[in-house]
Amino acid sequence: MNSKSIEQAEEQVAAYLLQERKFAYAIVNAELQVVRLQGDVTLFFSAADTKVGDSIYDIAPELVGAELDLQAVLRGELTEYRLPYVNRSTAEGELRYYNLVVLPFLNAQQQIIGLLHIVQDMTELGRLEQALVQQRNELSLLNDQVAARNLELAAANAELHQLDQVKSRFISVAAHELRNPLASILGYLEIMQEDEEMLTLDQQQCLNVIQRSSQRLLSITNNLLDLTTIESGRIELDLQRINVLTLVEHAATELQPRISAKKQTLILDSVADLPMALCDETRSLQILVNLLGNAVKYTKEHGTITVRLSLTEDEEFIQVAVQDTGIGIAEEDKDKIFRSFFRASNVHLSGESGTGLGLNVALSLAELQGGRLWFESKLQEGSTFYVTFPRDDSEGEHPRRKSLVKT
Ligand code: ADP
Repeated sequence: MNSKSIEQAEEQVAAYLLQERKFAYAIVNAELQVVRLQGDVTLFFSAADTKVGDSIYDIAPELVGAELDLQAVLRGELTEYRLPYVNRSTAEGELRYYNLVVLPFLNAQQQIIGLLHIVQDMTELGRLEQALVQQRNELSLLNDQVAARNLELAAANAELHQLDQVKSRFISVAAHELRNPLASILGYLEIMQEDEEMLTLDQQQCLNVIQRSSQRLLSITNNLLDLTTIESGRIELDLQRINVLTLVEHAATELQPRISAKKQTLILDSVADLPMALCDETRSLQILVNLLGNAVKYTKEHGTITVRLSLTEDEEFIQVAVQDTGIGIAEEDKDKIFRSFFRASNVHLSGESGTGLGLNVALSLAELQGGRLWFESKLQEGSTFYVTFPRDDSEGEHPRRKSLVKT
């Protein structure tokens, strides 16, 4: 390959770039007359009819007024002269943007013998930049709006938090105030019921109704208190070595009158040699009474309730499954069952009252002890609620005590 063909190739590249990048250039002599015009010559105003010898001001009228600067470039006093973003309307009325740069044109001896005018069509780039600026402005406006919204949200959150605290304090105080008179009502009822001969049958029945209602009120008040204590993180658990089977038996005994009243069958089934659990006795009994109580409540007369005790597959937990043949839970209610105050749409079938608090409290208590609580259910066929208690492997005779405070 000789130098001639390389020169030819370079010319080809230059021509390609001029066209592709929308460049054109014009070389003028010291009298500012066009000597050479190359590239996309239509970039120069009316360049199509421009002839060699025309004045630069004919092809680039924007330079009128810059005569002194051009002379300064010619004399070498200015290294370049720039006119950025010159706008021109095309024959079709379209507005286009151009960058114009004027450089000294040197001969082989590095003497300035004219000027080199380079023009580039910047319309696309200009439009892009304009769109970018617009988007940046919109973005910063959005950012400002988001920041303002965040501030509003933070203020609303703080207010909600405060209101929530007021609500919790109110519930807590009200529940406390209700509990004491209720306890005394129940105490006196017990004394009156001890002396059955003093009472007529009607009076005894009245007292039974009063006792049941008071018990219900007491359980609601206790649930409300538990809810606020758990929510505020003030709950304290006393973890000890516990025999879960004994606890289940206690729960069953507590519920026996209701099971008998509904003529239901209770089956208790446990694997042999179940290890001890590490949990809070009172709170675990509360969980079991809630699950067993619900099974009784939401199962019709003559139904069957089966309680199974086993180890979980990984043998780390003691699992209690409370299975009933009751009303079951509809698919659409399943994910709401553990919400406080939620009661499923089918509870009216059972004719049983409730507050929708027990399961929420039971779930929190089970999880606080390190266990889990979940259920499986089929509408009109029955439900099984599972709860697990962490196993305690300490060999010692003495109970292992440990307090756990939710933070
Ligand atoms: P409550 O029984 O006071 O309404 P819970 O928090 O104990 O409150 O239970 C929440 C809801 O879960 C109940 O209202 C009931 O709709 C549903 N539920 C709980 N246990 C059962 C069950 N064994 N069978 C059918 N539904 C149940």
